[in-house]
Amino acid sequence: MPKLNIKEILDKTVDYFEKYDIAQPRLDAEVLLADLLDMERINLYVNFDRPLSPDEVDTYRELILKRRQGTPVAYLVGEKEFMGLKFKVNSDVLIPRPETEHLVQSILNRIDTWEEEEVKIADIGTGSGAIIISIAKLADKLVQGIAIDISESSLAIAQENAANLEVEEQLEFKEGNLLEPLDEKVDIIVSNPPYIPSGEIDGLQEEVQQEPSLALDGGQDGLDYYRKIIDQAVDYLTTDGLIIFEVGIEQSQDVADLLKKRNYSNIEIKKDYSDIERVVLAKYN
Ligand code: GLN
Repeated sequence: MPKLNIKEILDKTVDYFEKYDIAQPRLDAEVLLADLLDMERINLYVNFDRPLSPDEVDTYRELILKRRQGTPVAYLVGEKEFMGLKFKVNSDVLIPRPETEHLVQSILNRIDTWEEEEVKIADIGTGSGAIIISIAKLADKLVQGIAIDISESSLAIAQENAANLEVEEQLEFKEGNLLEPLDEKVDIIVSNPPYIPSGEIDGLQEEVQQEPSLALDGGQDGLDYYRKIIDQAVDYLTTDGLIIFEVGIEQSQDVADLLKKRNYSNIEIKKDYSDIERVVLAKYN
């Protein structure tokens, strides 16, 4: 059999993914092949005639099968871009989402307006570390961060990401439940907690279901972690300190109400790029 070249194998894969209703057939086919061949995606096009070795074809077939069976591309290639930075991911951590960039940007904007040269931030349920690491890397102030997660394996990934992106000296990593490992006050508490109502987990897209349920399941109404964090945070925010959350669809008002009940002030809700109310922030003083 003649050897398949890059163009031919991509075309075949796109057809195959289309048959199995993979949402972005060409993108996924290209990202997986570019990763396998260790080239930028754009270079696939320049090298359309390059033949693939039998080993490359075999490995690619395995990846394609896993993708068809629902494994997210980010887990197959082991990384995901977020805020223009590359984060290592595996199935121990939630894959960073584009809408979470909005949470990070809201914090960066806020920090910009502060007079202090140093800001201390705690990230509750850090996962891959995408939020706190991007802030540490991109803020124009010195950010000292505390990344907390109950999962030891996700903290290991977060730590590796911090090292790769050269911010490890700004960050501390603590294993534990929500704010329990904190032993000092901070200027900002940020969290993208699990917020999917338990009853909706089974109906999620197949690939989302391959992500850790520990990072998705927010209890019966999806708000369990907001309640706990909002309660605990009052003891750990500096005067005028900021609490800031990502929320799921139609949760913004509920979270704002929880904040009001606990006497937080200056509550603001911000929309994401798709016009969904996605970020809730408030002060405690
Ligand atoms: N944004 C994720 C999703 O909708 C959920 C993440 C979370 O629960 N914090 O798939």
